[in-house]
Amino acid sequence: MSASDPSHAPETQVVTGGRRDEWTGGVVNVPVWRASTILYDDVADLRAAAGKDTHHRLYYGRRGTPTQWSLAAALTELEPGAEGTLLYPSGVAAITTALLAFLKPGDHLLLPDSAYDPTRAFAHGMLKTIGIETTLYDPVVGAGIADLMTPATKVLFLESPGSLTFEVQDVPAMTAIARERGITTILDNTWATPLLFPAMAHGVDVTIMACTKYVVGHSDAMLGSATAVASHCQRLRDATYQLGQHVGPDDAALGARGLRTMAVRLKQHGESSIRIARWLAEQPEVARVLHPALPGCPGHDIFRRDFRGSAGLFAFVLNGGSDAGRVALIDGLKLFGIGYSWGGFESLALPIDPHRYRSVTRRQAEGPMIRLQIGLENSDDLMADLAAGLARFRAAP
Ligand SMILES: *Cc1c(COP(=O)(O)O)cnc(C)c1O
Repeated sequence: MSASDPSHAPETQVVTGGRRDEWTGGVVNVPVWRASTILYDDVADLRAAAGKDTHHRLYYGRRGTPTQWSLAAALTELEPGAEGTLLYPSGVAAITTALLAFLKPGDHLLLPDSAYDPTRAFAHGMLKTIGIETTLYDPVVGAGIADLMTPATKVLFLESPGSLTFEVQDVPAMTAIARERGITTILDNTWATPLLFPAMAHGVDVTIMACTKYVVGHSDAMLGSATAVASHCQRLRDATYQLGQHVGPDDAALGARGLRTMAVRLKQHGESSIRIARWLAEQPEVARVLHPALPGCPGHDIFRRDFRGSAGLFAFVLNGGSDAGRVALIDGLKLFGIGYSWGGFESLALPIDPHRYRSVTRRQAEGPMIRLQIGLENSDDLMADLAAGLARFRAAP
């Protein structure tokens, strides 16, 4: 086995990526190399290593072992146009490190109003403390983003589709404007992964995933990644090393294991979620379905233009009714767990109130909202479970 071939399709690359002979030692998946101390042959060997770039060379546990290098290489190979990938102990750590890498005091950040809430909290918390100002923008502003850029703007952050409300952004139009002005673009690509949205082909400089979600895929490890184009890779690596970011080899191995089946899982998540979203849209208890693959979702035309398929996470708005009705719907579900972190094999339902986290795009919903993660269960079973939930909602006072 050698490094994967860029001419192969992504479904092949998730299987072959990062499996180099010198890292696998002949077994199929890369073994777990646990290390803090690396031993040198003699003082001369130690001294020779110190001045050099330690990338892909055993140096010190924090710089990784073949277990982490293999996963990082596989993620780089999946993203056409990428130079390298850094791994983090969570998706949030990937986001905060990338922002710190490309912003300094006095700079200005543009952040979509639909950003994942901890990303917002970091902008309004630590970034503000160190003198970095943030402007929240309407995620569907498109080329209008130019009007919000100032000479101090250094990072345009993107997240598409947006958290909770699923607005699809015109990423190519926005990255083109940013690139002209030397502004770094960072995309949170957790929902789509490079399989459904190859970020760099759409002009993004740094693409981030909460690998906790679809890469790990089994709800049993936390992991993040940031993948950069050549011009941005060294700065990201320096910030990552200076902040001491590190992923344990056991978690990296769980990420690599999940990655091998990510393409087939995503295909099933996407197919079932579209089927269930379409069915929900026809139910009288449902006012609106926010699924990027359905026409009612803001940015649906852009989704059809830019995405290769759908993931399994979406939301819907109930037609009037009360929170008690929403609670009755969710609490009685048999196949949907109640929990936040999605992307695993199992279905989830979550009551959401996105207006609490919005500043520039507060839209009045027709009723309470629910976010669904459609897992790998049979979609007829899931629909029957949801149909019973809608009956409970109808019957609630
Ligand atoms: C879950 C999530 C994250 C954070 O990932 P963690 O690994 O939980 O820190 C970031 N962005 C999006 C869009 C997410 O859904």
